[in-house]
Amino acid sequence: MQTHTYDVVIVGAGGAGMRAALESSSRARTAVVSKLYPTRSHTGAAQGGMCAALANVEEDNWEWHTFDTVKGGDYLVDQDAAEIMAKEAIDAVLDLERMGLPFNRTPEGKIDQRRFGGHTRNHGDAPVRRACYAADRTGHMILQTLYQQCVKQDVEFFNEFYVFDVILTGDPREDGEVKAAGVVAYELATGEIHIIRAKSVVFATGGAGKVFKTTSNAHTLTGDGMAVAYRRGIPLEDMEFFQFHPTGLAGLGILLSEAARGEGGILRNASGERFMERYAPTIKDLAPRDIVARSMANEVREGRGAGPNKDYVLLDLTHLEPAHIDAKLPDITEFARTYLGVEPYTEPVPVYPTAHYAMGGIPTTIETEVLRNNTDKVPGLFAAGEVACVSVHGSNRLGTNSLLDINVFGKRAGIAAAAYAVGAELPELPEHPESYVEGELERIRLGSGSESAADLRRTLQEVMDADAQVFRTQESLTNALGKITELRKRYADVSVADTGTSYNSELVEAMELGFLLELAEVVVVGALARKESRGGHFREDFPDRDDENFMLHTMAHPVGEGQGEAGSRVELAYKPVTVTRYQPMERKY
Ligand SMILES: Cc1cc2nc3c(=O)[nH]c(=O)nc-3n(C[C@H](O)[C@H](O)[C@H](O)COP(=O)(O)OP(=O)(O)OC[C@H]3O[C@@H](n4cnc5c(N)ncnc54)[C@H](O)[C@@H]3O)c2cc1C
Repeated sequence: MQTHTYDVVIVGAGGAGMRAALESSSRARTAVVSKLYPTRSHTGAAQGGMCAALANVEEDNWEWHTFDTVKGGDYLVDQDAAEIMAKEAIDAVLDLERMGLPFNRTPEGKIDQRRFGGHTRNHGDAPVRRACYAADRTGHMILQTLYQQCVKQDVEFFNEFYVFDVILTGDPREDGEVKAAGVVAYELATGEIHIIRAKSVVFATGGAGKVFKTTSNAHTLTGDGMAVAYRRGIPLEDMEFFQFHPTGLAGLGILLSEAARGEGGILRNASGERFMERYAPTIKDLAPRDIVARSMANEVREGRGAGPNKDYVLLDLTHLEPAHIDAKLPDITEFARTYLGVEPYTEPVPVYPTAHYAMGGIPTTIETEVLRNNTDKVPGLFAAGEVACVSVHGSNRLGTNSLLDINVFGKRAGIAAAAYAVGAELPELPEHPESYVEGELERIRLGSGSESAADLRRTLQEVMDADAQVFRTQESLTNALGKITELRKRYADVSVADTGTSYNSELVEAMELGFLLELAEVVVVGALARKESRGGHFREDFPDRDDENFMLHTMAHPVGEGQGEAGSRVELAYKPVTVTRYQPMERKY
């Protein structure tokens, strides 16, 4: 075992982690720990754009952007946070431009902007061009640009190190102050455990899409940061809100960016009808994702789906000029050719909703400080990006607001974590902080259990797709909870065929499965208790939004076996939503 000491340790080298590192490493001794090589982080898969009311191509302002974000999130957004994000968006884009990011340009040489779902002019009059982009590989460009700057600034990286635990000075569920003291990491190449002590710990570990089977998310998005914090007694906020992106390639889930509709693509059912005209008469195919995804699923349920099994709808780009498609949507049209054998110039592309984005996560203040309950912070612990819930996305995120979120709140996290560390003492370590991780790894690596992680993961993902996806009911969720409980018990008997210590990916995947099981339970328990429909959470048995009882954030706290809601290990509390300018209204588009 090795021990290292820094002022700040950042867990995750995606957009949020590296944006934080750029701020923190110039102010305090900083290490970035990442299970992936930084440029393999999921930020690099982001396609469509990053929004900011630059008003480069038509009138726009940050107040309209704030309003759209709040309305898009079905009023569960904390409005102070959304306002900060929309205001700081402009500098966030210009920062990236100065770092050298090759944005698409207008003929006059300004950063070009395009339309995206839910972004409108003047509080909903018509779609507005707000998304800055680099063809359909905006995230790739952001990630490469940030990495280059990190290299230039000599940021220290621990690559292919898996953080499996956070070290706190006490239990956040009990009285008394609890501070962050570091993390416990597992080195993939050697199997060695590392304790990385620090005054500030920043979680920037991204999302948890692998809870579901059909997902746009990379294999590695297993919610580690969320689960690690939760196991140590930190609550998770609004986890029942998961975004299903309308246009995954049918049967595969691989994403076709909303930019396809921003550039003029149209969704059609089997008879060729532009069905979104019925569901969102004003902005049609550019309605927010929750509404489009539900409309698509409804078309299929009512028998208007396309294909031999009538189980998808069609994304039609055939009316667009091939040259326009090649200039603006080169990668995603290639995906349609490669994975489905469909030629988007001449044929519509089969699409169906795919699990895409976790609106919930580790609760933070607008300064990215982690909360241990509705009001109290954990000094030295920060979170930003998809792992966090600040909450700018409420119950449904607008497209292009996440690349923005990671830049705005990543930067804030880097500044806040360094400022805290500069004024703080290095906390004492509790005794043997490595013992929990060591125990788990040994149990799985050397155990003689009969369960395979791959089987358990497949079953979990199938259960979540069947029972906790676009449409949910009391019955489906109760069924899911029962199956997850069973899978958790079977997980105690999991073992691996590879008992080696060098590059044991089977072992780390089994650890990641433990995180997925933890989070699936939180998602389902939160969804069971939320007897209303809002944003990405749709209950067929409670189809309306209920502001009287549920205009509240869910705070899920871990408790002992059977001591939580519906016999689970999750106890629920609720937290008020911050409302500043906009009173909740019915959401129409
Ligand atoms: C296909 C796709 C397209 C998208 N397109 C857009 C778009 O056009 N616009 C938009 O706004 N949003 C888009 N999104 C969403 C957006 O890309 C993500 O929400 C965002 O990039 C997340 O950034 P992040 O920095 O929080 O996490 P990530 O980029 O996922 O990075 C997570 C980091 O954490 C590290 N990590 C995780 N677990 C551990 C661990 N246990 N130990 C150590 N390190 C760990 C990983 O190595 C990685 O470096 C898209 C998402 C997908 C999947």
